[in-house]
Amino acid sequence: MNLQLALLEKAARENRLAHLLLFHGGSALYQRKMALRLAQILNCSQPTPEGPCQECYACHKIISENHPDVFWLKPLKTTIGIEQVLTWQQKVYLKHYEGKYKVSIIEQADSVTLLAANALLKVIEEPPERTVIILCAQNAEGILPTIQSRAQLVYFPDLTEENWLTGLGEVDQQEAVRAFSLSGKNQDLATAILEHGVPLLQEWVEKFRNAVEEKDFLKLYALFPIDKNQAALYLQVMAVQTQEGIQKGSILPFELLAIGKATDVLRQQVNPRLVIEVLALELFQKGGTLCD
Ligand SMILES: [Zn+2]
Repeated sequence: MNLQLALLEKAARENRLAHLLLFHGGSALYQRKMALRLAQILNCSQPTPEGPCQECYACHKIISENHPDVFWLKPLKTTIGIEQVLTWQQKVYLKHYEGKYKVSIIEQADSVTLLAANALLKVIEEPPERTVIILCAQNAEGILPTIQSRAQLVYFPDLTEENWLTGLGEVDQQEAVRAFSLSGKNQDLATAILEHGVPLLQEWVEKFRNAVEEKDFLKLYALFPIDKNQAALYLQVMAVQTQEGIQKGSILPFELLAIGKATDVLRQQVNPRLVIEVLALELFQKGGTLCD
């Protein structure tokens, strides 16, 4: 389990869990498991640092989805509609039956209709005491910003990422997640990015992108000196971003070709500075922007 989830469990055990969580990323199944586990910890009669006891009445009822204070909300067909949310809302405002906490787990929360989302927002703004709402979604962007901004976001890495993160040992988790994302889910590249330093790399790519956007050759001076390995790494990351940009339709394929060419030239022992400058000039001429 990653550090973030371990901290959530600790907060639940100490009765100081945020009242609104937004799970995003990873697998829906794993999100669901984690939501159940938190509901158990919140209501378990003897939770330990290892988790819920799995023996008490509350633990049993929650795992079999029969606990009267743990509610599930999921799309009936493709969306979660206003009627569903209103029915749920009534239950949320009733007194606690037997649990210490009322926990609502809203699956595929990005399928809540706009009308339903506004009803949901009312509950979120004035939650009854000892209530925790867990929104589960693939993409946090699919959630209404007004809801998102009130939630504690909890990111679930996918399985390859999770394995990679686990193997890293003592590193800054946020930075590692960022490195993985920049690598286009390529574990070797992610490791190289992490070793190089994520902020440094992002800053360099950002500066290069600005210089290209503004067609300002002078701005390139700030990018050097760099050695061959750095240049190769930056080009690789730009290639990943460009690939993603092409898929989204925001970038023209020629940019990827230009970056690919620069990478090839770099391998032939050409001065990295020259390679980067030639690439920039090529991108200037085609008038492209290097993605976002
Ligand atoms: Zn228990």
